[in-house]
Amino acid sequence: MLLDLVIRDGRIVTESNVFDGSIGIQNGKITQISATIGESANRVVDAGGKLVLPGLIDGHTHMEMPFMGTVSSDDFYQGTVAAACGGVTTIVDFAVQPRGETILNTYKTWRQKADPKVCVDYGLHMIIRDFNTTNLAQIRPLIGEGVTSFKLFMAYKKELYLDDGAIYSIMEEAVRHGGIIGLHCENADLIECFAAKLLSEGKVKAEYHAKSRPPLVEAESVQRGIRLAEMSGSPMYVVHMSTGLARDEIKEAADKGLPVYSETCPHYLTFTEEAYRQPNGNRYIMSPPLRSDEDRAKLWQGLASGFIKTVASDHVCFNSKQKNQSDFTKVPNGVIGTEVILPILYSAGVAKGIIPLTRLVQVTSYNPAKLFGLYPRKGSIAVGSDADIVLLDPHKKVRLSLDNLHSNIDYSIYEDVSVTGYPIMTISRGEIIHEDGKFIGRRGRGEFVKGKPFQTKRPDL
Ligand SMILES: [Zn+2]
Repeated sequence: MLLDLVIRDGRIVTESNVFDGSIGIQNGKITQISATIGESANRVVDAGGKLVLPGLIDGHTHMEMPFMGTVSSDDFYQGTVAAACGGVTTIVDFAVQPRGETILNTYKTWRQKADPKVCVDYGLHMIIRDFNTTNLAQIRPLIGEGVTSFKLFMAYKKELYLDDGAIYSIMEEAVRHGGIIGLHCENADLIECFAAKLLSEGKVKAEYHAKSRPPLVEAESVQRGIRLAEMSGSPMYVVHMSTGLARDEIKEAADKGLPVYSETCPHYLTFTEEAYRQPNGNRYIMSPPLRSDEDRAKLWQGLASGFIKTVASDHVCFNSKQKNQSDFTKVPNGVIGTEVILPILYSAGVAKGIIPLTRLVQVTSYNPAKLFGLYPRKGSIAVGSDADIVLLDPHKKVRLSLDNLHSNIDYSIYEDVSVTGYPIMTISRGEIIHEDGKFIGRRGRGEFVKGKPFQTKRPDL
């Protein structure tokens, strides 16, 4: 039999194993994994000296997202080109329910936006902004459409905030039908209060963004979220966790057996709040904000010991003009990230001996696949799974400057960050879509992937 593609003699990494071997691919699926593959193939990729990993699942992106009076600059095309060049083969993006619209209509609108543009496969989470009986009743059919996770905000008082009663009620309904709740954990009232005080004192610079939302503001919300999850029986996923304090809350809850999970992001693993003191400090504004060196170390420890379950990007691009505002409360929140997850985790994590390769695969592919119902189609290198694969050259040195990244943005917050170890080829359902920094896939080739309902039995993460 003639195979479509063979990846020969690489070091294959799965969530539980590292071994040398070859992978055979036919019709977009992995059909063979063995020490050697005898069959000929239309194309053979020599992976000698390279790491062969499952394609990343970036469980947290916001392409062309309407937010804070503007729209994020990466659309579903450019954002997924960047994703592909970073070894990401699936994104799970956030559909944002406009006020007054239903969540089912929002789902359709987001499919219409994304389908013609996406270059990698994608799933959707639903951000619920209006809490009412119509939307509550649409949770079940939406899960039927494959949108199994619902993101709710304890922060952004004027834009996205829901009160605790609404969060509890949505949790209660979602858990009945196999949903999982993603929570943005920061106390909106405290942020409003602190920000107003800082502004009244004329403190408008980027560094005050961090001061307006200190670590306890996150920890308090995480703790409250855990209680709401406990009361409602719902699984909960704390998105973009940034502090050691929050990490400890999550660990305590998980140790008690609650289905509580957490995610962190490459920027929290790379920078500290010192970044806000730079002349272009506004560019680093995201929420939660960058933290202390100690927090950063605790996040790495959380990954190393396995109780931070995922690393996702929270990719929300804004150009320098959008970021250039008169005070920190007006700066649209968000930074690039989808293209740097793998190089940051490899270079600053694996190569430094902080996390093993298997952990890298767990937090970037296997765990998000399990949490968002994409496993076993996605999330591993296994016979029968989609041939979503990334080849990483462990010796390739790259500076994460604008020249080497693919987002629609006019600066890189990672300009001064150099990594050793970089994705050199990305394969999506058997098709090579990125090679050596060049995107060679097609616009709109990505497919919507339905999430399966969350298993009430805790997944073995
Ligand atoms: Zn986000």
